[in-house]
Amino acid sequence: MTHPFQHELQTALMAVRCAAIVCRSVQSAITTESLAKKDKSPVTVADFASQAIVCRQLQLDFPDDPVIGEEGAAELRLPTGKEFLDRAVRECAAAGVTASAVEVCDWIDRGGASQHSPRFWTLDPIDGTKGFLRKEQYAISLALIVNGQIEVGVLGCPNMPFADKPDGTGVLAWAVRGQGAWMQPLSEPQTSPIRIKVTTVSRSADLRFCESVESGHSSHDWSGLIATELGIHLEPIRMDSQCKYLAVARGDADLYLRLPTRKGYQEKIWDHAGGILVVLEAGGHVTDINGDEPDFQHGSSLTQNEGMVVTNGRAHDSVIAAIRKHAPAEMV
Ligand code: AMP
Ligand code: MG
Repeated sequence: MTHPFQHELQTALMAVRCAAIVCRSVQSAITTESLAKKDKSPVTVADFASQAIVCRQLQLDFPDDPVIGEEGAAELRLPTGKEFLDRAVRECAAAGVTASAVEVCDWIDRGGASQHSPRFWTLDPIDGTKGFLRKEQYAISLALIVNGQIEVGVLGCPNMPFADKPDGTGVLAWAVRGQGAWMQPLSEPQTSPIRIKVTTVSRSADLRFCESVESGHSSHDWSGLIATELGIHLEPIRMDSQCKYLAVARGDADLYLRLPTRKGYQEKIWDHAGGILVVLEAGGHVTDINGDEPDFQHGSSLTQNEGMVVTNGRAHDSVIAAIRKHAPAEMV
């Protein structure tokens, strides 16, 4: 039996593991003092260094593939960006990637594509920047899209717990289309991967749901009405980043709701692609709030979709019906 996309998967896993080293190192240096000052520079540095590391690996192995990433290096190339650039270069070196400032900028800019192509990668070098700064959940998300289909999805979740492993082990989760969803302790690449599956909970009242910590990213008022409608009695699990996709994929939760806070917001592909494939291959179902499939053929945004609904596949239709029933007037 042949397993397509193995080279792509191995490259993506290696790249995300290395980017996670940088993110962890920068996050561990965040002090309560810098938090109090609302200093965003750690996430800026880690974002750039993470994108540089992933794009470098993709360039080495798949030089013809464009990368639609969240960051660009324009800011870093300005005199005012020098301090950030120097810090990003130092963080790359500490993770074993020694390079000049120009090389780091060039790698980052390799992730600056925005147009759709038949085959491309999409990267969020740090998804959940607010969680990163709070020393809570964040993710590195990388996916390969070919002819509009997600073929490979990888999520690095440095602060997610892993079964009985000590705190801080983190999770690396991945999927290749048709080959299941898997996870492994993030810092133990030699351990055998474990196959992950969504739950079989089907009674809507029993659903455990998760949503963003930020009510500006997903409406908490709307999800509250939906929860009441479905008879859900458990409090929502609020978590930053695509770790919510991992939560559904491995059965920590049964449902992830992302409900637009205003008409017209277009979700970014890098906030979803990696997570979606992991959930689909774990047996779950993903549509937008209208029940439409996510459409990855329009560049960096999901222009044809609104919000996102991620379930274990059992109660999807009743969730969509409850969303519709309680849609705020301005969203209709
Ligand atoms: P989360 O960690 O689930 O809150 O999601 C973080 C992501 O939300 C970021 O990567 C942003 O791209 C995205 N984001 C920013 N503004 C909005 C918005 N108004 N609605 C939905 N998502 C947003
Ligand atoms: Mg993001």
